[in-house]
Amino acid sequence: MKKITRCDCHLHTNNSFDSETPAERLAERARELGIEYIAITDHCDILEWSDANIARSNAQAAELNERYDDLTVLRGIELGEPLQSPDQTAIALGLCEYDFILCSLHNIANEEDFYYLHPDREKAQELIGRYFDELLEMVRWNEFDSLAHFTYPLRYITDRDGVQVDMERYQPVIREILATLAANGKALEINTSGLRSPTGFLLPTVEYIRLFRELGGQFITLGSDAHIPENMAVGMAEGIAAAKEAGFRAATVFINRRPVEIPFE
Ligand SMILES: [Zn+2]
Ligand SMILES: [Zn+2]
Repeated sequence: MKKITRCDCHLHTNNSFDSETPAERLAERARELGIEYIAITDHCDILEWSDANIARSNAQAAELNERYDDLTVLRGIELGEPLQSPDQTAIALGLCEYDFILCSLHNIANEEDFYYLHPDREKAQELIGRYFDELLEMVRWNEFDSLAHFTYPLRYITDRDGVQVDMERYQPVIREILATLAANGKALEINTSGLRSPTGFLLPTVEYIRLFRELGGQFITLGSDAHIPENMAVGMAEGIAAAKEAGFRAATVFINRRPVEIPFE
């Protein structure tokens, strides 16, 4: 059987507020699919995180990694909104040893997660502008390995709510974000969760993956963002096709915070 993917580096367990999946079920599913590397990246949204959950997630990943010869389980974290509380971020980063820090932005300062917002077009343009400005600060901060689900607001604004926005006006800040990420030797995540909706698309779409490559980007990570085992690796064929189209020949996994390239088959 041809494998869908050799790695999936964005997965949630019941140590995240929005998943009921035991870590062991993810490992078993990965072995069924012939996946060689998974990263468990439980939520650490910095304004409301649980040190007990993150410590447990980390220990479980380490324990599962010891258990199997045919699967590497990486100790990851999805660090959300780190600059909204630098003190808490320092505590979270010091709590455990991590293989992989995936950095994300679900809500801009003083707003709710985009999941809860239903802006009209004008308001959406303003919110997306603030999203990219905050993302640029985060990328300049640079204490992470891969940038998660770039263009996240579009998952809700465009895909779910059908509000079309003009992305052209953000081109300068988008270039700046991707160029900074590339210059810092960090990875861009190709997140396939958007494909699970009927009208969905990759986060980000291939045009931004290509732009990242053109700006000198070396590394991409692949993430299904699965919260249930059945969603593991879903959409990866499309994600890998987009990566190849943009000029990448490998996905990257992070082990002890160092990039290891996993060539596409
Ligand atoms: Zn996320
Ligand atoms: Zn996630």
